[in-house]
Amino acid sequence: FSDFAGLVAIVTGGASGIGLATAKLLSGRGAKVAALDLKPDGLPEDIAGFETNVTDDAQVKSAVDAVVERFGRLDIVVNNAGIGAIGDVAANGDDEWLRVLDVNVVGMARVARHALPHLRKSPAAAIVNTCSIAAWAGLPQRALYSASKGAVYALTLAMAADHVREGIRVNCVAPGTADTPWVSRLLDQAEDPAAERAALNARQPTGRLVSADEVANAIAYLASPLSGATVGTVLAVDGGMHGL
Ligand code: NAD
Repeated sequence: FSDFAGLVAIVTGGASGIGLATAKLLSGRGAKVAALDLKPDGLPEDIAGFETNVTDDAQVKSAVDAVVERFGRLDIVVNNAGIGAIGDVAANGDDEWLRVLDVNVVGMARVARHALPHLRKSPAAAIVNTCSIAAWAGLPQRALYSASKGAVYALTLAMAADHVREGIRVNCVAPGTADTPWVSRLLDQAEDPAAERAALNARQPTGRLVSADEVANAIAYLASPLSGATVGTVLAVDGGMHGL
């Protein structure tokens, strides 16, 4: 597996689920890792927490600057912070649409905007955005969330084209249903969470949810020189769900 020794990575949403698994993996492989999160609590000692709301441009700028000041450089950005939304297109009003798009889409643009000047100086620069199979699967009751992830996919392609000649590779991962606190929170709302989890597992072609570590492995691959010729792609990590 790739060695990230000497490299510095930012992981947004790095205090939970896929982000935390990614932060741990990159750190375990030698990177200095900064988790930018609303609540960077309870992080392992080797991961530096920076309290940041990706919807706040000033906070994002000062967090990115603080990471570079502390670690001296920036090589990898994992744009992973995201929130969900349930319902058809009529279920949410403008405020909710704008709130979710602000986190899931504009948040990634903000982090990239402030990170790019630093990434341009790295010989191993990579951005990995967390998309979702919702970007193309036509999932019921996920209109707003799907729109946000469709935008993440298009943003990834556009960023890849814009920055590849600067030596910055941009790609995204598309998890299916990953076993994270996010999914546990949703299951806990069911009348019988254990039965709901069993049903969810049964709906997966593999008979089980994707693990956060499996998504982290894919992110680490796209962040590493092992994928040095891979630019502007989406890597599905969904146990075959993308065929639905
Ligand atoms: P999670 O809720 O376990 O973790 C998300 C983290 O993002 C949390 O630590 C949260 O504090 C942080 N966050 C939320 N809003 C933020 C903000 N405004 N600023 C900074 N940090 C913020 O969720 P997860 O399941 O690990 O999801 C991570 C990413 O993976 C999201 O982009 C999500 O859309 C995507 N994803 C998840 C699944 C899944 O099934 N879990 C599937 C496809 C895609």
